[in-house]
Amino acid sequence: MRIVNLRHYRGSYIYCGRRLRFHRDLGPLEASPVGNPFLAGQEGPIVNCLRLYREWLHERIAEGSPLILGLFRELTDQSVLACWCTDLEGDAIFAAPEVCHCQVLIKGWRWWKNQQEAGNGTQQQHESGGQGSSANT
Ligand SMILES: [Zn+2]
Repeated sequence: MRIVNLRHYRGSYIYCGRRLRFHRDLGPLEASPVGNPFLAGQEGPIVNCLRLYREWLHERIAEGSPLILGLFRELTDQSVLACWCTDLEGDAIFAAPEVCHCQVLIKGWRWWKNQQEAGNGTQQQHESGGQGSSANT
């Protein structure tokens, strides 16, 4: 995994930020489903912002958000996540203090992936009870 800073990075990437109406080089950017809904400044310092994001992301994973899990399924260890904060690779992603929500995202993704691989498909969304439980009828 790699985090790149779009202020200067011009390769291929998965955008993880908010909607941007226009960028000189990149054009408009659609809001990413994993963008941080909490604004630094508004929520106080970045640490608060990242703490709120961690809680938010955890809730989305727990409820089985199709948007977020859809993106998670596409991520691999080779994925390049793009934001506007920093460039990080390897162990630096996991170092403290965190400076970008992509670090929180990658940790969340790893955790989710481990759960999947361990066969704990924990939440088999009980909210989508519509499609008939074909198991025992
Ligand atoms: Zn960032």
